[in-house]
Amino acid sequence: MPDTTARHAVKPAPNLTLQGIAGSPGIAIGKAYLVEQEDVDVVEKRFVEPEKIPAEVRRFKEAVKKARKQLQDVIEEVPAEFRDHIYILDAHMMLLKDRMIYDGTIEYIERENVNAEWALKMAVDEVKSVFKKMADPYFRERASDVAHASRLILDNLLGTGPSNISHIDKRVIIVAHDLSPADTTQVPLEKVGAFLTDRGGQTSHTGIIARSLEIPAVLGLGNATELIKTDDLIIVDGSAGVVILDPDEETLTRYKERKALFEQYQAMITRSSHLPAKTTDGFQLTVMANIEVLEEVVSVIDRGGDGIGLYRTEFLYLNRLTPPSEQELFDNYRDVAEIMAPRTVTIRTLDIGGDKFASGLQLAEEMNPALGLRAIRFSLQSPEIFETQLRAILRAANFGNVRIMFPMISGVDEIVQAKQMLKQTAESLEKAGIPFRADIEVGAMIEVPSAVIMADILAREVDFFSIGTNDLIQYSLAIDRVNKQVAHLYQPLHPAVLRMVQRVVEAAKEAGIQVYMCGEMAGDPVNLPVLLGMEIDALSMNPVSIPALKELVRMLSLKESKLFLKKALKQPTAADVINLVYDTYGPSFPSAPFFQASQD
Ligand code: PEP
Ligand code: MG
Repeated sequence: MPDTTARHAVKPAPNLTLQGIAGSPGIAIGKAYLVEQEDVDVVEKRFVEPEKIPAEVRRFKEAVKKARKQLQDVIEEVPAEFRDHIYILDAHMMLLKDRMIYDGTIEYIERENVNAEWALKMAVDEVKSVFKKMADPYFRERASDVAHASRLILDNLLGTGPSNISHIDKRVIIVAHDLSPADTTQVPLEKVGAFLTDRGGQTSHTGIIARSLEIPAVLGLGNATELIKTDDLIIVDGSAGVVILDPDEETLTRYKERKALFEQYQAMITRSSHLPAKTTDGFQLTVMANIEVLEEVVSVIDRGGDGIGLYRTEFLYLNRLTPPSEQELFDNYRDVAEIMAPRTVTIRTLDIGGDKFASGLQLAEEMNPALGLRAIRFSLQSPEIFETQLRAILRAANFGNVRIMFPMISGVDEIVQAKQMLKQTAESLEKAGIPFRADIEVGAMIEVPSAVIMADILAREVDFFSIGTNDLIQYSLAIDRVNKQVAHLYQPLHPAVLRMVQRVVEAAKEAGIQVYMCGEMAGDPVNLPVLLGMEIDALSMNPVSIPALKELVRMLSLKESKLFLKKALKQPTAADVINLVYDTYGPSFPSAPFFQASQD
């Protein structure tokens, strides 16, 4: 057991409360287990005599080789419940040979005459800073993948060995500075009450994995590893992002009750998640899922998703030197289509460029990446990459109920051009005698304000709209979606956003086409009354959000929601709309009792 007594000379007062980021909902009460880790940030710089440089390079290469072998062993032994996440470890394997890290470190050793540990740190810092500059939080968080992969090398250089948490033999709450996916997959799951980390945010892998395994997690705690020691009794409220150290009897009793409530609620919504999301007056809302990788479809089906409303296809293009082949894409899309059939699968064409990063594709540096050559703009300028993807989608459409959707449409010409490419692709498949489906439905994402204004005209060109509120809010309220300084202005219930969404829904209805929403706004229950009031056809969200949202739909009526929407559209600010939600539906809306309790 690690000796952490020195750090804990002063015992914290009872009920010391730490606030972090709510990484995965649920409540856990139990003993802590502190994971001790070396960090790349603390390595020392040493100068190496010129004649010893080749040996230093060999030492580095040897450490990489060992790290690859260790990671391969981890991959081979990944338990069944983690199989969905194996792609993360595969990506780490590629990072171990990444040119910037591998060649970068060797060049640094040779150029600066320094030790391998320091050279590795320099190379890694450079790669991390590339990721950290990205606007999209998912991609920014990938800096942590670089840190995790490089830590495997560092452990071998320092001879410290990877942090071994596989031997944990009792149920504990894991407390770590940062947990790599390789660490996480080694923990015997039945032994984990919750995960706590100093680092990380909503989109860190610990958060993603914990949510999909439904293990409570609080992330980004800053100094939890300094305040908590092994065997301390702690309470974790993953829904509120709160950790309570050394709780008194009264607090313990209160949280035990909350835990029981939470578990009852989870069991209830999971039991009913396969029932349709029908309002009390009979309106049926389609509730679909957003996915990033094939493996997520199982969780969509388990949670009662009515289909895939957004398949973000960019992930197959990441962490590689050349774009994926038509066959690789086809195999992947066909698998999703077959598993989900007869439910709908909406494949969005590549939304890469700008903030989204693909190591194999040549992308220019841009001053304003969010306004740059991304999404459909990139695809139209890279006909080979675009056509390969279109061929794969058209072929996969033969195996299920597949639709295609184009991202970042800003005007009619783009959709016309994209459809033209689709038509040409279909003709070339036809000519070659390759089976495909010609009558595939085509949709446009509405995520640029100009597309909102032109919605009536755009609606003539497509079979459906899908409103991407993440970008629509960013572009219409002029708020960088990941800039903390302006995060308070990122308001889905801003009256301007509501009016835009309303306009798009009306244009779609007038043209007789379907209208969906697939931005984060769709999955947050507080937005449900307005979206229902608009009679939007479908909401698409993170699979984990589906059961609670479906449950809430069953408690609302379409008639009341329509009245509510009328009032909401007259409000001057987002805060007024939120107040109206609480005035109309009660102060606890939309929370289940445990959420209510955790806010007192
Ligand atoms: C959106 O912008 O709302 C959306 C769903 O697309 P992404 O988050 O992938 O940009
Ligand atoms: Mg978008």
